[in-house]
Amino acid sequence: MKQSAHLLCINPKCGQIYPIVSRQIKCEKCGHLLDVEYKEKPPTKLKEIFYQRRSRDSIYNESGVWRFRELLNFAEIETEELDQCSKFLVSLDGAEGRQSKPYHMSKVSNFVGIGNNNLMLQPEGYNPSGSFKDNGMASAVTHAKMTGAKKIICASTGNTSASAGMFAANENMECDVYIPDGQIAPGKLSQAYQFGTQMIKVNGNFDDAFTKSLDAANEEGSYTVNSVNPFRIEGQKTIPFRALEFLEWEVPDWIVYPGGALGNTSSCGKSLIELYNWGWIKKIPKIAVINAEGANTLHNLYNGEFENEELRWNGGSPNLELVDRYYDYMNKNNLGPKTKATAIQIGKPANIAKGLRALEFTNGCVIQVSDKEMLDGMSVVGLNGFDCEMASGATVAGIKKLVDDEIIKNDDIVVGILTGRQKEPLLPIDYHNDPANKFAKPPRI
Ligand SMILES: *Cc1c(COP(=O)(O)O)cnc(C)c1O
Ligand SMILES: [Zn+2]
Repeated sequence: MKQSAHLLCINPKCGQIYPIVSRQIKCEKCGHLLDVEYKEKPPTKLKEIFYQRRSRDSIYNESGVWRFRELLNFAEIETEELDQCSKFLVSLDGAEGRQSKPYHMSKVSNFVGIGNNNLMLQPEGYNPSGSFKDNGMASAVTHAKMTGAKKIICASTGNTSASAGMFAANENMECDVYIPDGQIAPGKLSQAYQFGTQMIKVNGNFDDAFTKSLDAANEEGSYTVNSVNPFRIEGQKTIPFRALEFLEWEVPDWIVYPGGALGNTSSCGKSLIELYNWGWIKKIPKIAVINAEGANTLHNLYNGEFENEELRWNGGSPNLELVDRYYDYMNKNNLGPKTKATAIQIGKPANIAKGLRALEFTNGCVIQVSDKEMLDGMSVVGLNGFDCEMASGATVAGIKKLVDDEIIKNDDIVVGILTGRQKEPLLPIDYHNDPANKFAKPPRI
């Protein structure tokens, strides 16, 4: 099936469009981010085809991203022609998204207080580079190649660089990574080095590194792969697709994510908007975004903790001046983001507008959890034989808090996304060596 697509400004009052091969990240008219928009509606009979593709006769059917290629066909290819797939679609031998699906984890269910049948967790850490980023990187690097880029560029809290480096190595492209000096988990940094990326150390935090990387990506032949890139968002739509497929397209009550730059939240929102408009789903799950207490910009703005105003998408006119004033206030008072969960240590979520849109469409909510709660969440996942990193522990901690507060009801169906694998060996070691921790099993002498 061939689709035609273009880029569209997310501001409904603007409507600016760009051709699909454009490298434009922001609308030149109004400054908002862009969406990939598809002109036709994919037929629901594809549900059956997606399921059958798992028989693994080609890497594009094996891939957990490209198996759903009709729903993200920005490359405008004949999706049934495998030679066209191999000419355009970037894949790490079908490994992106291949292992990820929802699992029941009884100890997590006990901990959060929902029946085991009603809670599922989807470990996106079981992607080839160890985080959900591979879903969106496969699609972003596909688009980078469509534009003739030779070099991909990103700023990273760690996992983005590992994923970008992996795909760049596989595609013989260059990869420059802007990192906040001294703030990246060595386990992630070492991956990026190993994949041959060029590190550029920035004196500052992630938000500073990100600004520098965007400037660098303006150069001819360079291409930014951070989640402000609308094509990252397209690949990450397959995270909810896989969850929904597992549930036979019966919609859960909640989908829960940790919130950093809000690319994941945005892509989940976009996927649900599309599926709903296309008639693929009849009900809309609520999205819950879980911030770290030390990096809680969205939480503060969404819940009216700043200037008593609850920031909303507001039909496409969010009060972005309020956001700017909040950032000024952060800068003036030196309130940089601070949490041990480095993957979500982000003070200025670049996708905030798209994130708000997702929250409005799904009638979602935003809460915050402490570092200690995230570590408990991370640890109880381990006791089920899965591992995840601290930022993913926010999902478990957040579900627990929402159940405790009776926002999630006992009989609700909940899918929580575990965004990445454990890459910081000292965290579990330190956790278990301190008997004061809830799930600690200290060593015996
Ligand atoms: C990138 C990342 C996040 C944050 O995701 P956003 O889409 O930026 O909100 C959370 N967890 C892990 C493990 C990550 O790598
Ligand atoms: Zn615009």
